[in-house]
Amino acid sequence: MRFFQNNEQLLIPEPLTDKQDHPQLKPISHFEQLPSVFPNTTYTFSTELEQILYGKQLFLENLPLPIEQLHQHYVNGYLSYRKGIENQMCIRCGNENPSLFAKFSCSRCKHECTYCRKCISMGRVSECTPLISWTGPKPQDSIPLKPLVWNGTLSVGQQKASEALVDTVKHNDQILIWAVCGAGKTEILFEGIEAALLENKRVCIATPRTDVVIELAPRIKSAFPQIEVIALYGGSEDHGSTAPLTIATTHQLLRFYRAFDMIIIDEVDAFPYSAEPMLQYAVDQAKKDTSSTIYLTATPNNKWKQEIAAGKRKAVTIPARYHRHPLPVPTFAWCGNWEKKVKKQKLPQNVLQWIKDHLKSHKQAFLFVPRIDYIKIVVSILQKLDHRIEGVYSEDPRRKDKVSAFRRGEIPILVTTTILERGVTVPKIDVAVLGAEDTIFTESALVQISGRVGRSSDYPTGSIIFFHYGKTKEMIQAKKHIEGMNKEASEKGLLEV
Ligand SMILES: [Zn+2]
Ligand SMILES: [Zn+2]
Repeated sequence: MRFFQNNEQLLIPEPLTDKQDHPQLKPISHFEQLPSVFPNTTYTFSTELEQILYGKQLFLENLPLPIEQLHQHYVNGYLSYRKGIENQMCIRCGNENPSLFAKFSCSRCKHECTYCRKCISMGRVSECTPLISWTGPKPQDSIPLKPLVWNGTLSVGQQKASEALVDTVKHNDQILIWAVCGAGKTEILFEGIEAALLENKRVCIATPRTDVVIELAPRIKSAFPQIEVIALYGGSEDHGSTAPLTIATTHQLLRFYRAFDMIIIDEVDAFPYSAEPMLQYAVDQAKKDTSSTIYLTATPNNKWKQEIAAGKRKAVTIPARYHRHPLPVPTFAWCGNWEKKVKKQKLPQNVLQWIKDHLKSHKQAFLFVPRIDYIKIVVSILQKLDHRIEGVYSEDPRRKDKVSAFRRGEIPILVTTTILERGVTVPKIDVAVLGAEDTIFTESALVQISGRVGRSSDYPTGSIIFFHYGKTKEMIQAKKHIEGMNKEASEKGLLEV
């Protein structure tokens, strides 16, 4: 769509002008100045539009009202248009890389129109795309006096983190919660979320993975049964509205603009958030100027660790699991040139023995391998021992089924790539890594993998073994990391003695 700018610099959408093919009809990005209109308090605005648009940045085609009505909201100061692309930058996703822009012959603005390729999966932002946001009042959320309904108790470590979180919310501050795998991080969030809701603040939990949104949504809903919760990921059904509590993948934040008073970034170290500046930009856009930010991780990167140690970053650590048992510490086992053996359809003797021992004792296990190519071949070797053994990788169409079958105990050993390093929690399993020296197994990956073991309070122990062809610094660091957490937990009295 093109706009005409009137004498007061207000934008008039092309369909509402009589100026067809007028030279002053231009794509939004071609105007120098866009005015901001002060809301007219006597105007009766559409509450439907308010519900959809509050805290968002959407396209015209996302909105259910006709252009005449949208224009009335604009001239009365209830919605704003921002340029989709400005100074060679995509305003939605922050992309400034010239190679990630392209041109097309655009029927909407009748120009050679530049668009952003980086965020195209969320709909095309081009020079003639206005990003539309709500500038009217915040919708009234009805919040009960006691929104949190949860009868569990927090461990001492959780309680400490929870208090720090409430404080962070009250002061619109930032904090990093460094909680070991199995610390029970969801429960840590409850009191902080409640504190925010009671102050009429809007809350978002953002996570890199769709799986986590799907798993988290029912838990949050049952803890806050009277609060409307929406879950957003590619393909979810909650897109048309806003709510006091939002759970979203980090990608979905691209649709938000100054929406949240409290934002919780889960697995802040995890791909793709750490490797992708777009997601950092999306978080910054999605939160309000005055807001609190909570970062959650089990494995902060080195930069953050240094900042914590130097007192430059506010952080609270939870070094112990909620069940008060120490984290299982990995053992190292040299297994020779395993790749050469695998190519000959064989496995190193000690690896094979480990598999046989697990089959015999009926103890389930994950076997991590560095790359997808090894899955098929390792599985074919192991299926000779037990035909129920399976392999799984990220693009595996049967991934979900296989993980469920493993949970039900129908698969004794699951061979996997690092896709299962996080999130998947199965009680009573052991874990081994084949080729732990591979560069894909960073300290943080190895700590996460080790964190799969002993999660349940019924089975708080288990073994984790790194089969390797030469110890790496990352392996040693991972072991030190885990031992360090256990030491801290013990010193703080957070472990059973
Ligand atoms: Zn265009
Ligand atoms: Zn973009």
